[in-house]
Amino acid sequence: MILLTNDDGVHAPGLLALERAMQRIGNVRIVAPEHNWSASGHTKTMHKPLRVEPVQLEDGSPALACSGSPSDCVALVLLGLLPDQPDLVVSGINPGQNVGQDVTYSGTVSAAWEAVITGVPAIAVSLSSHEEPDYRYAAEFASRLASEVLAARFERPILLNLNVPSLPANQITGIEITRLGRRVYRDVLDERRDPRGHSYYWIGGLPPSGIPEPGTDIGALAEGRVSITPIQLDLTDHLLIDELRQWDLGSPADRQ
Ligand code: MN
Repeated sequence: MILLTNDDGVHAPGLLALERAMQRIGNVRIVAPEHNWSASGHTKTMHKPLRVEPVQLEDGSPALACSGSPSDCVALVLLGLLPDQPDLVVSGINPGQNVGQDVTYSGTVSAAWEAVITGVPAIAVSLSSHEEPDYRYAAEFASRLASEVLAARFERPILLNLNVPSLPANQITGIEITRLGRRVYRDVLDERRDPRGHSYYWIGGLPPSGIPEPGTDIGALAEGRVSITPIQLDLTDHLLIDELRQWDLGSPADRQ
């Protein structure tokens, strides 16, 4: 079984496009948030109940709408919400790329992290642009990549972060395996006043740009190519371990 979810809500067009493509390669179940959770990061709802309601997608397909976050949707299934466990979790298709440091904010990627933590491989799928999104090739390519992941049988659960140019297939210039690039956020603090004279704030500014370095996800999208970045949960800064071990940090025994 292939579990589909997203961070834009169960009725988002990107999820419908993904569902239509994935149905061709396997048995699909959908559990997605009842509303938009974009940029929610990795969330676990622990202090209020989670509700799940059956709904129908635009094409009549059954789905479950959950009151929790994208990662809650995946967690519920992995904890036994459905009779079957998924062989693969696919999250998306998000209208808007998730590249570089975005993977720490992204609800789309967080749902995929949740699967990998529990031992299930996952693919996060995003479209390069949210303007006039064209999901057709992204959906088709995601299903092709999903078939490969299902056939590959890795010893550990893998996470592929897929970003697809929002272009018709004949304008996409290639497929590249990449590393995460560097986003440049252009956020500014926008302070305003409410009718009672108190300040409130928006995080405003221009959309993020990025450094289109060759070999990175940002570089591939800039050249009109599909980007596939294998990402992992080990956030350890391995290069710093040896240096930190040289520091004189004393010993708890010194305090005796
Ligand atoms: Mn989103």
